[in-house]
Parts: sequence; structure tokens; C-alpha cells
Amino acid sequence: MIRHISLLNRYGLAGMIVLAFVLLAITFSRDLLYAGLFQLHAECYNWLPSLIMLHVISDTLIGLAYVFISAVLLFSIYSLQLPFQSIFIAFGAFIICCGATHFVEVITTLWAPVYWLAGSIKLLTAIISLGTAFMLPSLLPKIRSTLANTRRANAMIQEIEQLNIQLRENYMTLADAMPLLVWTRNEHLEAQLFNKTWTTFSGMSLEKLKTQPVGSWMHPDDSKSYRDTLERRSEYVGEIRFRHYDGVYLWHLMHSVPLWKKDGHFQGWLSTATNIDKQKRNEQALSEVRERQDLFLSMTAHELNTPLTSMQLLVTFLQRNLGQNNKYSMTIEMLESQLQRFIHLVGDLLDMSRVKAGRLTLTFTSCDVCELVRSIIHKVQHSTTTHTLHLSCETTATINADPDRLEQVLVNLLSNAIKYSPEAKVIDIRVISDASQVVVSIQDYGIGISQEAQSHLFEQYYRSIEVSSRKYPGLGIGLYIVYEIVKQHHGKIWMESEEGKGATFFFALPLSP
Ligand code: ADP
Repeated sequence: MIRHISLLNRYGLAGMIVLAFVLLAITFSRDLLYAGLFQLHAECYNWLPSLIMLHVISDTLIGLAYVFISAVLLFSIYSLQLPFQSIFIAFGAFIICCGATHFVEVITTLWAPVYWLAGSIKLLTAIISLGTAFMLPSLLPKIRSTLANTRRANAMIQEIEQLNIQLRENYMTLADAMPLLVWTRNEHLEAQLFNKTWTTFSGMSLEKLKTQPVGSWMHPDDSKSYRDTLERRSEYVGEIRFRHYDGVYLWHLMHSVPLWKKDGHFQGWLSTATNIDKQKRNEQALSEVRERQDLFLSMTAHELNTPLTSMQLLVTFLQRNLGQNNKYSMTIEMLESQLQRFIHLVGDLLDMSRVKAGRLTLTFTSCDVCELVRSIIHKVQHSTTTHTLHLSCETTATINADPDRLEQVLVNLLSNAIKYSPEAKVIDIRVISDASQVVVSIQDYGIGISQEAQSHLFEQYYRSIEVSSRKYPGLGIGLYIVYEIVKQHHGKIWMESEEGKGATFFFALPLSP
């Protein structure tokens, strides 16, 4: 049964149209417009004008209405892509046929009793209406499931709308709870939502905030870059001054994100601004303190430099005049070593101020790397009794360098290696080269450097937590100067270390062309 119904559904429309054509063919074989001896319907109405008018007008109107209805129906089927098209087409054909019977009724009433034509159209209407009636039951399950789907879809739409409202409320609750400024703009840059922090910060109501022109609450010097980013529709992260309700501009870290739909349609902006004013002012104060501190250290180093040179001359004078084996030689030696430490420290401070001022000058000359490193290690070995320095030189390369500055680099790295490996006895130094550069490495087996400290080592005044005790004296400027010297040689410096297992510092310098 179901199979029959579905067959009817599939072929019903085509069948009806074929049948209609067959019928027309049969009826065309007769004289459709044959009036013969029949009488006009008006005769039956005894030519009573009012009765005739009543029938003619109502039949014409019904016919016209039927034609109009089916025309609208057919137009809707195609333009709105309605479901169940076959049944609608059949229904439209049925209505047109009904309309046609009424037009024929007018003709048979007033002009000619064309009963063959009237009968044929009635038969056509009967076939199409029967076909439509048979098609309908087969569509019922489909209609039922479509209706159920529609109901489900409607319920889902309602649920989604509810969720949307809920989401928006949650978003606003979250935004209101945040201590930062949060706001959104649509694609035309019109302000949409502001959180409560905005009202307390600006002293304006939400309505007034919405009417403010873009960037009007920012410092005039900062607002242009923000407006440009909005025009470009690109992400913006930057420090911007926002006007507080008392008129003072406060520093904020602003983050604006453009919002895009999946289909690439631009939706607008979501922006946040975190108050970093205190932090910013602290940073400014700190950098001012740093500058003053640098200035003080540089002036002190300059002041100390002259007396230190005189003291050095005096010690040399004493050493020469008192000879090697006198009772003060030990004391003079100790004095000399302490003086050297002092001179080294003052030298570092002076270099630091030169680096800061961009006045660290280098005098380049061609050097045999191994020879240079060997002579420096020789000197350093003399000043230590605790460690043995092992050198392995695997190159004969020459480089263009400032030998005094390179000595400073090596002395610094070696003194650190000795200082930070008090339990170890050996320092390994290796010099190798490839086609373009020579690499010097200094490896110790001491306390090593934590991961956290490794990223800050070459910063000015940096000392890791592990060494900032009296056990390891220092100022944290040695590596800062070393880094600058290597950089000025167009080289690079890096290190590898595991905490507790020692550290290896490498620096690479380009070979002489
Ligand atoms: P200083 O040694 O005077 O503190 P440096 O600039 O030479 O300053 O070194 C900076 C920091 O790097 C040191 O304080 C220390 O924490 C770390 N460091 C440098 N060399 C080593 C090393 N060989 N082993 C362990 N830590 C080191």
C-alpha cells in the first residue's frame, strides 16, 4: 500500500498531466465549441437580468480569484523553493481548472451553451482533483515529520536565543566584575557595551559614554595610533593614557582585538585596558634612580682612578726598592693583589659608564687567537692557587680583534669560572674554529646557573639568587661589559649550564677576512 502511495506520489503529477492531455486530445476530436440545439443558461433564468448578473458576476470573480490564487501559488513554489512542490503544482492545476469551469459557466450563460467544453473542463478538474486527493495521503508522513522538524527547530531557536541572552548576561556580569576597562564597538566603530569599571573611572553614565567620539577619552598624543589601528582592523596592544574623571591622565595597557565571523565578515572590536599607572610611575622612578646611581658610580670610579694609579706606582716603587727578600715582601704582595682587585673593579665601573654612553672604544689588530688565549691563561694561572687551567687549542686561526678587550673578556669569564666553582680544581678552556669563526669555551664544574637566571645573565647589575650572598662577592656588571665587547667584535656569546653541574660560556668571533 505504502509502495503504491509513494509510486503515485512520484509519478502522480506526470500521470495527471498525461491524462489531461489525452482527455484534451479526445475532446478536441469533437467540436468543443459546438452549441447545437442547446439553450443558453440564461433561458433557465428566464432572462431575469438581476439573476443573470448575480451568476455572471460571481462566476467571473470566482474564476479570477482561482487564477490569481494559483498564479501566486506557482510563483511561491519556484521563488521560495517550497517543499512538497509536486502537491502544490497539482493543487495549483486543480484550482486553475476550477476557475476555468466558472469562466465556461459565464460563456454558457450568456453567449453559447458549449456543454462539451464545460464537460471536458469538469472532467479535467475531476482527474486533477482526484490525483491531488490520492497524492495527499502519501505525503502525510513526510508532512508530519517536516512539521515535527520545524517544531524541533523552533524549540532549538528559542533555546539558542535563551542561551544567547544568558551568555550576554554572563558576559556583562564577568565584565562588570573585572577591575579593567572593558568595552566593545561594532563594525561602524559605534560604542556598544561598557562595563561598570568604565562608569566609575570616567564618571560618566553608560548612555553618555556611548555618545563619546572614538578616542576622546585618551590622551591626544596616544589616540591617533589607536584610531589608525581601528581603521586597519588589526590587533592593538599598547600603553595609552586614559582620562580619569578628575581630568588626570592615567597609564593603561590597552588590548583591542578585531572580531571576525567565520565567513570573514567583520563584526567589530573587543577592547580591554588595565590600569598600569602605578607600575609605570614606579618604573620611571626606578629608571631615574638607576640613572643617578650610574652617574654616581661613574663619577666615583673617575675620582678613584687617579689615586689608584698613584698607589699602583707606589707599590711598584716599594717592590723595586725593597727587593724580593725583605720582611715586608709578603705584605706588599698582599697589598698588590688587593690593589689589583680594586683597580679591576674601578676599571669595570668605568667601562660600564662607557658602554652606557656608547664610548667603549676598540683598537683592532690582527691576532693569533691561540697565542693570545695562551698568554692570558698564563697570567690568570699565576693569580690562582686553587684551580688549574687546562687549555686545548685546536686552531691556528687569526682574527681581527682588540687584544686588551679580549683579555678583559677572558679574564672576566675565567674569574667567574674560578669564583663560582669553589669545590672544583679544574677549568677547561678550548679554542676551535671552522671556516668562518673561532669559538672559545670556558668550562667550569661549579654551582651552575638556574634556568631562570640564564635569560638575565648579560643584563646590567644582574646577579642570580644563588650567588647574592657574601660568599660570592660581585656587582653583576662583568658579563654586561663582556657581552658589549663581544658584540663590538661582531661576535656572539652564549652559555650552557645545569644547576649544580657547572657552566660553559662560549664566545664566537669572525675570522680575519
Ligand atoms: P658578578 O660575578 O660580579 O656577580 P657577572 O656579570 O660577572 O657579575 O655575572 C653575573 C651573574 O652571572 C653572577 O652573579 C652569577 O650569578 C652568574 N654567573 C656568571 N658566571 C657564572 C659561572 N661560571 N657559574 C655560575 N654562575 C655564574
